[in-house]
Amino acid sequence: MLDIQAIRKDFPILSRKVYGKDLIYLDNAATTQKPRCVVEKIEDDYYNVNANIHRGVHFLSQAATEAHEEARKTVRQFINARHAREIIFTRGTTESINLIASSFTDGFMKEGDEVIISEMEHHSNIVPWQIQAARKGIAIKVVPINEKGELDLEAFRSLFSEKTKLVSLTHVSNVLGTINPVKDIIREAHDRNVPVLIDGAQSVPHLPVDVQNLDADFFVFSGHKIYGPTGIGILYGKEEWLDRLPPYQGGGEMIATVSFEKTTFQELPFKFEAGTPDYIGSTALATAMQYVSALGINNIAAYEDELLHYATGKLQEIEGVRIFGTSEHKSGVLSFLVKDIHHYDMGMLLDRFGVAVRTGHHCAQPLMHRLGIEGTVRASFSFYNTKEEIDIFIDAVKRVTAMF
Ligand code: PMP
Repeated sequence: MLDIQAIRKDFPILSRKVYGKDLIYLDNAATTQKPRCVVEKIEDDYYNVNANIHRGVHFLSQAATEAHEEARKTVRQFINARHAREIIFTRGTTESINLIASSFTDGFMKEGDEVIISEMEHHSNIVPWQIQAARKGIAIKVVPINEKGELDLEAFRSLFSEKTKLVSLTHVSNVLGTINPVKDIIREAHDRNVPVLIDGAQSVPHLPVDVQNLDADFFVFSGHKIYGPTGIGILYGKEEWLDRLPPYQGGGEMIATVSFEKTTFQELPFKFEAGTPDYIGSTALATAMQYVSALGINNIAAYEDELLHYATGKLQEIEGVRIFGTSEHKSGVLSFLVKDIHHYDMGMLLDRFGVAVRTGHHCAQPLMHRLGIEGTVRASFSFYNTKEEIDIFIDAVKRVTAMF
């Protein structure tokens, strides 16, 4: 359904060479490449629409403000939030989670209260809670995973107590590729009156996400993983939660009135957007989302699933391969080791064949500990990858393996 060769032409970087070889870019879970329209949007905005937003009476400032607020509407539509004011622009997933960890703990948690996370979380959904644990004495409960790399839902249920104030889980694991059943998880948490934050960094670029259908209280992701620029991300929050949360950062843009005696804060979404926002990033992110929408997120999901199955089948044929994450519900990520070849050696040598993969702990050291390994080699896919590229990747893995 997707014309991959035509799509690839939209991504100039894909036709570059590394070490004289065709670049095979399989590090899409770390960041995605940018289509021409996104880069051109940034250039066009700087050349033609650049002015600080919100406070200006002049033409350019109003045009830039309008573009920024239009971008917010595009994001709203992309994840089907109810209101544009429920979309907060942040620097990325990490900042979005830090914002909630800080504001939610300040507003709704006291010493001894508990947040539930899981063994498969990225450090960005672990460390912010640990900082709050040190600051305010909250406790962190951890859902274990099973042998396939899926959440143990029985254990999840058993972690709830009357002190549980929030569940914060990833939608798709950046190491295992597991797609967690977040809709069911949210329903179960809501049955116990506990709100849920979903880390959508690895889901939004690859799967249809409807925050109202999921009934997520908070949903966060990064622009750069969905073909947008670096430095911009999203915090979605239900209005009723965001309204009640205290601000995260203070400064310009987020205030209504300031005096030395008393300051009042702006309404949503501005209450959470202190300082000059990344209004160039927001419009470029909207352009990226429009690009993805034009391809069709369901087409993307189906094609990437085909790539994942193809790559998994081929990889499994190699003697001594161990794949981490074997759930039937996976998206775009293939983590593995071959025999006792160090992940770093494999990654470095694959690079010499032009194949870009990620190696290491993938910002998930507790998960590595659980798996009893130091790191993996991770290939991660996008709609611009092809089966021919996977053949080259698999061939390169075989050649590296033969060297040892
Ligand atoms: N969560 C997950 C599941 C991720 O994969 C990543 C990025 N690797 C992050 C959070 C952090 O995203 P960012 O660095 O863009 O803030």
